[in-house]
Amino acid sequence: MNQPTPYTIAVFPGDGIGPEVMQPCLDIIHTACELAGAAGVKTDHVEAGAVTYQQTGSALPDSALATAKQADAILLAAMGDPAIRYPDGTEITPQLNLRFELGLFAGIRPVRSIPGVKGPLRDPRADALDIVLVRESIEGLFAPEAKGEQFEDSSATETLLITRDVSERLFSKAFQLNAARQKAGRGRNRVTCVDKANVFAAFAFFRKIFDEVAASHTTAQTDYAYVDATALKLMTHPWEFDVMVTENMFGDILSDQAAALVGGMGYAPSADIGDEHAVFQPCHGSAPDIVGQGLANPTAMILSGAMMLDWLGEKHADAAAKNAGQLIVQAVDNAFAPGKLKTCELGGQSGLDDVGKAIKKALTELKI
Ligand code: ATP
Repeated sequence: MNQPTPYTIAVFPGDGIGPEVMQPCLDIIHTACELAGAAGVKTDHVEAGAVTYQQTGSALPDSALATAKQADAILLAAMGDPAIRYPDGTEITPQLNLRFELGLFAGIRPVRSIPGVKGPLRDPRADALDIVLVRESIEGLFAPEAKGEQFEDSSATETLLITRDVSERLFSKAFQLNAARQKAGRGRNRVTCVDKANVFAAFAFFRKIFDEVAASHTTAQTDYAYVDATALKLMTHPWEFDVMVTENMFGDILSDQAAALVGGMGYAPSADIGDEHAVFQPCHGSAPDIVGQGLANPTAMILSGAMMLDWLGEKHADAAAKNAGQLIVQAVDNAFAPGKLKTCELGGQSGLDDVGKAIKKALTELKI
């Protein structure tokens, strides 16, 4: 059913470059919705993050969480600042609390080449990547119920938690994503379980559940890969992957590595999806090293906005919202295709304004 009123979006600009990249993203979302004839979005700005912690003593105030829970979707830029920490030395990461609170078990991290953006590999096949990493996002080595402990000053432990319930839902999501990609003519119809099942009992269990879920998705091909071998293959033959599904910590590391293949952190969007809620956020952090210099690449944030419109469109059977998301992706491709924009990750000077304006221009020039 088409939603006649605008969607309510909880907007968390957060810390560091977060507010910088959020601004062009919202502008482009509004423009795309208008062009697509979609009902559009109404934004509720919410404060959370390291600076909020410093000012209020809470990184994710109750009111912010309540706003997020009530929203149709959540758009988050970046949170954290290495200079602001909890007394135990860990960083402020309310984005993780949001995942736990809202049950956002599936981190969808597309690794798609943008025409005109050259990654580090010489092989031309690396310029046409279209793979996706599904990162489990509420347990594994990040599980809040198995938080690490330090014993005196002599040892410390962490627990890696794999549950049947979350793993089943995670693998089902990976197979659904594979099916949707197949329907859209994308991918190789293969889902790869990335683990370390040769050494750890938790990963042997993870793989066993993968096999059980795979048994109900017989049209898809499946295989396994150890995480260390995957790290290597991502650097040599990334085009041979399709849908990869893995544990939280492995996904955290591999998704940064994979982002490098398509230009860097500023090009890697993501979605953290649960049964009801979803957060859309670039894979990058608050990048304190470039904050305030106008260098931040807003592309990952803008593409995360496109993923949000696609998810809302799918959830509400709203073709116009889905179309708005597709227009944004097309505009990003058209803006970069001539090869004139070169962002700081790639040694260039094109900054926040140049990229934001080029994408906006490409959007308004689309033949609709
Ligand atoms: P987190 O752990 O919070 O995800 P991180 O430690 O992985 O953060 P980032 O903040 O993502 O670190 O930054 C990693 C590097 O990538 C930094 O050098 C940063 O400047 C660069 N970077 C991150 N985002 C962007 C962006 N949007 N545009 C340009 N460079 C970026």
